[in-house]
Amino acid sequence: MKYSIALVPGDGIGPEVSSWAVNVLDALGDKFGHTFNYVELLAGGCAIDRYGQPLPADTLEAAKQCDALLLGAVGGPQWENLPGELRPERALLGLRAGLGVFANLRPASLLPQLAGACPLKDDVLKASNPEGKPSFDLLIVRELTGGIYFGQRGRKGSGKDEAAFDTEMYARWEIERLLRVAYEAAAKRRKKLCVVDKANVMESSRLWREVAQAISSEYKDIETSFLYVDNCAMQLIRAPGQFDVIATSNIFGDILSDEASVISGSIGMLASASLGAADDLPAKNGRVMGMYEPIHGSAPDIAGKDLANPLAMILSGAMMLRYSFGLEKEACAIEAAVSAVLDKGFRTKDIASRDSALCGEKIVGTREMGTAVLKELE
Ligand code: NAD
Repeated sequence: MKYSIALVPGDGIGPEVSSWAVNVLDALGDKFGHTFNYVELLAGGCAIDRYGQPLPADTLEAAKQCDALLLGAVGGPQWENLPGELRPERALLGLRAGLGVFANLRPASLLPQLAGACPLKDDVLKASNPEGKPSFDLLIVRELTGGIYFGQRGRKGSGKDEAAFDTEMYARWEIERLLRVAYEAAAKRRKKLCVVDKANVMESSRLWREVAQAISSEYKDIETSFLYVDNCAMQLIRAPGQFDVIATSNIFGDILSDEASVISGSIGMLASASLGAADDLPAKNGRVMGMYEPIHGSAPDIAGKDLANPLAMILSGAMMLRYSFGLEKEACAIEAAVSAVLDKGFRTKDIASRDSALCGEKIVGTREMGTAVLKELE
């Protein structure tokens, strides 16, 4: 089968890590008889340099014509002083909104091989794990196209009276469609959904609770619970094993998933999928438009130094095969290759254990890690 993929390498480490995702997908294509055709597109800082805007209309139009979008990362210090609308990160918001992908699935788990890179004590992990194991496996479902990142914003007044504001606003239908994705995900997992909000203070959060309470009766086999976001931030460190699926707003999901990445070993391990409405599935030819990207940013501090961990990007490719193309066997092959490489002790610096030499780990760069994954697919 042939699949067309919009490839947005972006800035910083984006091009380094996305090239390894492409290598891995191509190797997999050879093995399983698929052809992946890439349409390389500019978005982010590189598009600002070339076209004066972070998301040229042509990029969005071309992306819409493809079966799925694979994105590295955008941004960097050289574009930080531009006005908000012209900053590289605007490209992400524009792509998500333009492609209609409103549900961001961010799995975070502690692989047994990376236990040494997790800053939490074994006792903490074991105590909250239903099976008493030193691990956790959770999924954050983050709303992606609404809330404060898209709400009205601005400045008013001047001098010492100058003020700035951003607005958190959610429509009932936006909350409901996100929660339905989260419930469906929970149904395929351990059947627990925790809705995270700040309903003790924020009106928009109170609406989240109302909607969740209203539709929870349709998902009787799923246990629904509620947590304030500040408590959730604490619980993720205190007892991460208690969570199965967390559903939350754009900004809370953004922050909590970075926190979850640290206890997973490194932000360099976490992939994500952004999907559209379940009602629209399956899309054309049984392929579902989705946007796939690691949760990390462009990491300008390590860009071009062969230090970036390419695994989150490679695993984002696996999520694309699973969710957009329905290629479950192929997605599992990538995940198994990553697991085998970790079993053999390969570690980029970010996922090395504190006592890596004693653990027999081999510290490698981006290239060697990517090559090791490719070897597993031979
Ligand atoms: P970041 O995720 O880029 O980096 C945070 C830390 O994690 C850094 O120390 C970095 O070296 C490390 N890190 C990140 N990815 C890594 C990897 N694959 N391997 C090893 N280490 C890794 O976050 P930041 O520093 O807050 O942001 C840098 C730039 O990226 C900013 O311009 C920001 O706006 C942008 N950003 C983009 C995205 C995106 O494109 N989706 C997401 C977040 C931040």
